[in-house]
Amino acid sequence: MFCPKCGTENPDGAKFCSKCGAALGAVPASSGASSSSDTTTGLAPNVAGLLCYVGWWISGIVFVVLEKKSTFVRFHAWQSIVTFGVLTVVQIAIAVIPFIGWILSPLVWILSVVLWILLMVQAGSGKMWKLPWVGDWAEKQASKAP
Ligand SMILES: [Zn+2]
Repeated sequence: MFCPKCGTENPDGAKFCSKCGAALGAVPASSGASSSSDTTTGLAPNVAGLLCYVGWWISGIVFVVLEKKSTFVRFHAWQSIVTFGVLTVVQIAIAVIPFIGWILSPLVWILSVVLWILLMVQAGSGKMWKLPWVGDWAEKQASKAP
């Protein structure tokens, strides 16, 4: 068997590499069992989940289209589309209302940015962080076969 660290060939059954001393016994188990965390894009699920939010609903749509395997990534993609889709529509809708809309508009922006940062942090740390209502709906969409 070959050392995973330095590539030196070692006799089968060796516990430690003869050259660098790396442990050899525990390594083979991890090679075949990574299917649960696989993504279509080849990115780590938490990285892909974070990227779903980077460009708001636009990046959400990108990942809903691209991602076929990871429910985690598809969940965050759908949650991004709905959350920022609704916020964008609200932003446009209130912008046309005089006075009240002009006061509310910056508040919706602040809310959007706070949610944006919060969602990226949660997804980036690998959490299935669900917003009320939106998160439940996104979870249902994500669990459907693509
Ligand atoms: Zn080695």
